[in-house]
Amino acid sequence: MNPELEQIIARSRRIVFFGGAGVSTASGIPDFRSEGGLYSEEFEGVSPETILSATYFALHTDRFYDFYRKYMIHPEARPNAVHRRLYELEQQDKLRGIVTQNIDGLHRMAGNKRVYELHGSIMENYCIHCDTFYPLEKILESEGIPRCSKCGGIIKPWVVLYGEAPDKYTGIGAMREISGADTLIVAGTSLQVEPAASYLEYFTGRNLIVINKEPTPADSRASLVIRGDVNEIFA
Ligand SMILES: [Zn+2]
Repeated sequence: MNPELEQIIARSRRIVFFGGAGVSTASGIPDFRSEGGLYSEEFEGVSPETILSATYFALHTDRFYDFYRKYMIHPEARPNAVHRRLYELEQQDKLRGIVTQNIDGLHRMAGNKRVYELHGSIMENYCIHCDTFYPLEKILESEGIPRCSKCGGIIKPWVVLYGEAPDKYTGIGAMREISGADTLIVAGTSLQVEPAASYLEYFTGRNLIVINKEPTPADSRASLVIRGDVNEIFA
């Protein structure tokens, strides 16, 4: 790891990690917003942004699930070097929390407890009628539209769709962690997606570290900018 980064981690006691798609690419999950990624393609003439919207889910639930199963779920994905290191830091009582834009659930799979999934998680699914919880397996095992075993209602992933408000409790938790951090590591995100990017405004600690392949709007206020793949840097 970068020696300067190691020094800051060694000195810090309340680290918060704020991560984006670049954290999970080494686990085999593509970065949709990167060039050539899913978001620059079309799905039978309909854009992914349209398919992944609350309106589309309501009106074309079967086609939503065709797309969702094909592109959004990666059941074979496992935690990588970044997830594993963050788990160690939580065990050492150095890491206060993880705020992530990813929906893959890999931080929890790695064992981390204080994870704030701003855009939800594919691992949690709920019946829209009776709110019964279902794990990812329920989506994988069902065909077409997954239905609640209790009431027959449609099951919806706890994933924030376009046109939906993010979960407010998750957002409040993330703000609290960031505002209490002495070090904030922002990694694998170009900070282009709002409102996620505005969470950085709550940070008043000493060390803002940015690790990303491309420049980000936070670089100018960072105490350390590392240009590169976060996985290679954490490995
Ligand atoms: Zn139900």
